[in-house]
Amino acid sequence: NRQIVLAKRPVGAPNADTLRLDTSDVPVAGAGEMLLRIEYLSLDPYMRGRMNDSKSYADPVAIGSPMVGGTVARVVTSDVKGFAVGDWVLSFSGWQDYAVSDGVGVTNMGTDPAHPSWALGIMGMPGFTAYCGLLLIGEPKAGETVVTAAATGPVGATVGQIAKIKGCRAVGIAGGAEKCAHAVNELGFDACIDRNAPDFDAQLKAACPDGIDVYFENVGGAVFAAVLPLLNPFARVPLCGLVSQYNATSLPEGPDRSGAILGAFLVKKVKVEGFIVWDSFPSQYPEFAKEMTGWIETGKIKYREQVIEGLEYAPDAFNGLLEGRNFGKVVVKVSNS
Ligand code: NDP
Repeated sequence: NRQIVLAKRPVGAPNADTLRLDTSDVPVAGAGEMLLRIEYLSLDPYMRGRMNDSKSYADPVAIGSPMVGGTVARVVTSDVKGFAVGDWVLSFSGWQDYAVSDGVGVTNMGTDPAHPSWALGIMGMPGFTAYCGLLLIGEPKAGETVVTAAATGPVGATVGQIAKIKGCRAVGIAGGAEKCAHAVNELGFDACIDRNAPDFDAQLKAACPDGIDVYFENVGGAVFAAVLPLLNPFARVPLCGLVSQYNATSLPEGPDRSGAILGAFLVKKVKVEGFIVWDSFPSQYPEFAKEMTGWIETGKIKYREQVIEGLEYAPDAFNGLLEGRNFGKVVVKVSNS
């Protein structure tokens, strides 16, 4: 059983010392347990926070323990009611080949799901995040302008596409021309601006001639600074993530801008609301799943996945996710045999 464990807490970006591949015997499931073979591991930005020894909405990973993460697995042996050998399941089994489970918190996906890995993306946590954050906090109305960064990732891509379904102007921000072309040509964004362009601020302004009514915040940093002056009175800011800050070791140099930022929120009467998806929206999943299934079936929502073959490549793929080297939802196909 291969496991990728947290070897050392990183300072800044994770490096070669951060994670370690350990190998041990395949665990044996006891009475009332089942053995799961992990097929797909989801890589998500929040995992960077779990590497820190700091208080957050979830506990840190202990040194020497496998990294946590959402997984799609198959049942190898089962003594758990409701789970049979061969069933596909959605579990939270982390970065490893096998795991033993008592079935608590595990969802049975049946024997033949059409797209098993989608449970980690468009039909799972990132898709649900986009749906709840945009519709329940952002409250977009037809004709309004919705802006999101990380626009080709699983959250941002879904935000933009739902904004279009709701009759809004959708403006994306992404890293590089290829991702921006994908956002416009495949996902249907009205415009997508390259965050690395030297005149990024001016391009964003030109793409939002009527200002910004909903800014779905995924990244913070320089993107937020460019968005702030464009926010309209009564704008809504679902505060979802701040990926530009996850590897930061200290606050950036410079003047304290908190007064200017809060002052802008005040005079424009902006609503900023942070959320942690499963805590904030404990009961909305069935409604989301029904609506999202319909949108996918009718071609209104498209989904791009980047599959990494082999658990041993997960650490590099994870760093790539934080740096924007990914293109779409990153899942690791755990076994490359
Ligand atoms: P993505 O696949 O979109 O990956 C993160 C992306 O962030 C990168 O691909 C890159 O895109 C972008 N990025 C990286 N560095 C910077 C930077 N310095 N400035 C601007 N953009 C940057 O991830 P997800 O779709 O899975 O997640 C998106 C956000 O949603 C994250 O902040 C995540 O933490 C958050 N989240 C929050 C949840 C909640 O409950 N609150 C639940 C799920 C996700 P590019 O190169 O294209 O700019």
